[in-house]
Amino acid sequence: MQKLACPKCHLPLQLDGKSLKCENKHTYDIAKQGYINLLLNQDKACNLPGDNKESLLCRKHHLNKGYYDLIAQSVIDTIKEYRDETPMHLLDLGSGEGYYTYKFKQAFPNDDLYGLDISKDGVAMSTKYTKDICWIVGNSKNIPIQDHSLDFITALFTVVNVDELKRCLKEGGYVVHITANNHHLIEFKEVIYEEVKIKSDEFIRLPFETIISKDIKQTIHLENREDTLNLLKMTPHFYHIKKERRYVLDELEDFDVTIDIKLTLYKV
Ligand SMILES: [Zn+2]
Repeated sequence: MQKLACPKCHLPLQLDGKSLKCENKHTYDIAKQGYINLLLNQDKACNLPGDNKESLLCRKHHLNKGYYDLIAQSVIDTIKEYRDETPMHLLDLGSGEGYYTYKFKQAFPNDDLYGLDISKDGVAMSTKYTKDICWIVGNSKNIPIQDHSLDFITALFTVVNVDELKRCLKEGGYVVHITANNHHLIEFKEVIYEEVKIKSDEFIRLPFETIISKDIKQTIHLENREDTLNLLKMTPHFYHIKKERRYVLDELEDFDVTIDIKLTLYKV
């Protein structure tokens, strides 16, 4: 937790018993589960921001079956290729229920890892994987990390704030960005919607130097109805299904679905 900063004044936070304090005496308690709540009231979008518990549980079950491990692995391989030998400080933005961050920690056990999400439920769930990651409840528009202190920021399927990435990363630091391509989970769209509109490339390029940009496409086989529903419930499509099409949910069984994502490595 050496790179944590106060979300109010951005001065470094120091451990003081069971809480963290900055020089201005702003104090934050460490929750008994082991995470730190650094989300200010003004940074909350609503009372319970972030993914709801059901969606987090679906995500946990899906990820723990390894269905998305190729995504985690592609990030790990990229970091291995570009990191240097000095101890690395890495922040996983939008860490959700913690699975990917945990995979990163397994790959880089001796490095300093942070997982940040706006969902307190998600961060509380994350602490069950390991206490060796600094788990933070916070807002990605006001990242409670000291200026220019990070080597890597990973952002998997999450919205990023360019100014905050720039502020938190060291000069020459990297962002590993995973975004969905047009055919990602296309089979779900075909089930849910009457008509599937394939949008033109909606990929948002960040204003940094692009080092790698590669597409990863693979079909995965969801083994049973439960697994199919878990992944579907992780997507917005599940919540867009029209009443008169709800019957399709009753018919879902095992399912082949396309993963179609882009990995982009940026140098800041
Ligand atoms: Zn402060």
